[in-house]
Amino acid sequence: MQPAVIHAKPCGPVPPNVRDYEQARRGFRWSDVEAELLGVRGLNIAEVAIERHARGEQARKIALRWRGRHGDARDITYGALAVETRRFGNALRHLGVGAGDVVFALCPRIPELYAAALGTLAIQAVFSPLFAAFGPDPIVTRMRAGAGKVLVTTASLYARKIAPIRDLLPGLQHVIVVADDREIPADTLAWSDAVLGQLPALDIAPTPPDTLALLHFTSGTTGKPKAAMHVHRAVVEHLATARMALDLHPDDVFWCTADPGWVTGTSYGLIAPLVAGVTSVVDESDFLAEHWYELLEREHVTVWYTAPTAIRMLMKAGPDLARKHDLSRVRVAASVGEPLNPEAVMWGRDVLGTPFLDNWWQTETGGIMIANFLSMDVRPGSMGRPLPGVEAAIVKRTSDTAVDVITTPDTEGELALRPGWPSMFRGYLSEDARYRKCFAGSWYLTGDLARQDADGYFWFVGRADDVIKSSGHLIGPFEVESVLLEHPAVAEAGVIGKPDPVAFEIVKAFVALKPGYAASDALRQELLGLARSRLGAAVAPKEIDFRPFIPKNRAGKIMRRLLKAQEL
Ligand code: ATP
Ligand code: MG
Repeated sequence: MQPAVIHAKPCGPVPPNVRDYEQARRGFRWSDVEAELLGVRGLNIAEVAIERHARGEQARKIALRWRGRHGDARDITYGALAVETRRFGNALRHLGVGAGDVVFALCPRIPELYAAALGTLAIQAVFSPLFAAFGPDPIVTRMRAGAGKVLVTTASLYARKIAPIRDLLPGLQHVIVVADDREIPADTLAWSDAVLGQLPALDIAPTPPDTLALLHFTSGTTGKPKAAMHVHRAVVEHLATARMALDLHPDDVFWCTADPGWVTGTSYGLIAPLVAGVTSVVDESDFLAEHWYELLEREHVTVWYTAPTAIRMLMKAGPDLARKHDLSRVRVAASVGEPLNPEAVMWGRDVLGTPFLDNWWQTETGGIMIANFLSMDVRPGSMGRPLPGVEAAIVKRTSDTAVDVITTPDTEGELALRPGWPSMFRGYLSEDARYRKCFAGSWYLTGDLARQDADGYFWFVGRADDVIKSSGHLIGPFEVESVLLEHPAVAEAGVIGKPDPVAFEIVKAFVALKPGYAASDALRQELLGLARSRLGAAVAPKEIDFRPFIPKNRAGKIMRRLLKAQEL
C-alpha cells in the first residue's frame, strides 16, 4: 500500500515558481499575465511564442533540440525558427490563405511542423493538428469537419494516406509537402520551393485576443471526437501553467513526450515552452524504454511532461533499466491524460528521485486546470489542486440548467469549473447544442466524476460514462485499477461494469501481465484477494480476465468502452 502523503521535497537547484500555493492563489490575476504578453498589436500566439524572443538576445538560444528517428539531429535557435515561421506565413499568404482559413498538419515530429503551426497563427489562419498515425477515416472526418484549405504533410505520408482520399476532400486547395525518402508528388507543393523561397520578413497584423487560433479534436475516448475551438488568448494560460504547474525556469531543458497531433503536444510541446523561452527536446522516434532513458540522460532534461501509459510501460521494463542511466537532472516529472495510479507516482520517486506530479485538464480547457505543485505535499492518486486563477468544484446537476455545488468533503459528483480562464474553448465546431449542454448554472461541466477532500485535493473517480453502478454503489474504475496495479505481476488494468440481473452491474477487471509472469487461476485468486482486502467486497472485482494487452485509442488512453463492448 502506498503512503497517503509524500512531503514536499526541499528546494532543488532553483526555488519553485509557486513557493506557497495559498499565497499564489490569493495574489493571482489572469489579467496580470495577459498584460505581460499583450502588445500594441493585440495578442498573437506566434508573436509571443517566437517573434518576441527572436527580436532580442534570445534569438541565439536553442528553441528546439530536434532528434530524428535515424540518429540525425538539429538544434534550432529562436531566431532560425522565427525565419522559417515567417517564410511559412508568407507562403500561405502567397497561396491566398488568410485569417480564419484552416490549415491542417499531418506530420511526424519534424521541425517543419513547428514552423507551420506558428506561421499559420502569425497570419491569423487557424491551425489544426492531426496525429500522423491516423488512418484515412479519421483524417477525412476531421479535415471535412474543419473544412481544411491547406494540408502540410510529408511525401511518404501523402503517398500512403492522402493520395488515396484526396478526392474526398474537395475543400482542400493546397498540399505542402516536406521531402523525405520519397519524391514530391505531382499535385503538391514542395516545402523547399513553396516555403523556403519566401521572404524571411513578415508583419503580424494586430490580433484581437479572441481571434480563433486552434481547432483541436478531442481524443474520442467516449464517442465521436469533438472539434474544440480555441483563441489566441489561450497563450496566457500556456505561459501561466508552464510557470506554475510545470515550474519552467529559463534554463530548463523541457521534454513533453506528447505528439503535437494532440492538444497536449501542441499546448505544451509547442506553444508553452516557446512562450516560456526554454529549450525543448523534440524526439521523432517512437516509444522505446531504453531510448527514452538515454534521451533524458543525454539531453540533460530537467522538466519532463509525459503520460500514465508511457510511465506504466517504463515500469513494465523494470527498474534495472532505469538505474543504468543518470536521471538525476530531472527535477520535475509531470503526467497528464489519464488517471495516474499511486504506484506510478511513487515509482517516479524511486527512479528519478521525484514523484510524478499528476495534473488534470482536457481538450476543452486548453491548458492545465488542476495540478500537483512542486512545493506542495503530494497525495499519490490525487490530481492535485486547482491552478491559481481556476475555480473548481464538485457539483450535481439538478436540471438542464442548474447544479448544486457539493460542499461535503469526499463526496462524488461531477467536476465543474467556473468559466473565465483564458484558454477556455469557445465552442465545438458546428455542434452548438453539444457545447451549450456543457454549461449549467455558472459552471462548465467536464463530464468527469471526482471528489474533493477536506484539504482541497481533487481525486478522479472516472468519466461519467465509465462509472460502475453495482448494488446501489457508484464505483470508479480508477480506484479498482490502482489497487490491481500495485501487484508486481500487473502491467495494465482496465475495469468495467458488466451487466448483471441482480446487482445491475458487477465490477469486472481485465489485466495484462508484466514480462515473466503467466496467467493462472492461482494468480487470479491472488488478485481477487488483494482487491477484496483493500477495497472491500462491494467494490472489488468479481471477475478478472487476463489479456495480452489492454486496448487503447490512438491517444494511448484505455478504452473501457471497447472492453465493455467486447464483454457484451
Ligand atoms: P472524448 O472527449 O472525445 O471522449 P477525451 O476526453 O479522452 O476524449 P481529451 O480531451 O484528450 O479527450 O482528454 C481529457 C480527459 O482525459 C479528461 O476529461 C479526463 O477524463 C482524462 N484525464 C486527463 N488527465 C487526467 C488525469 N490527470 N487524471 C484522470 N483523468 C484524466
Ligand atoms: Mg472528453
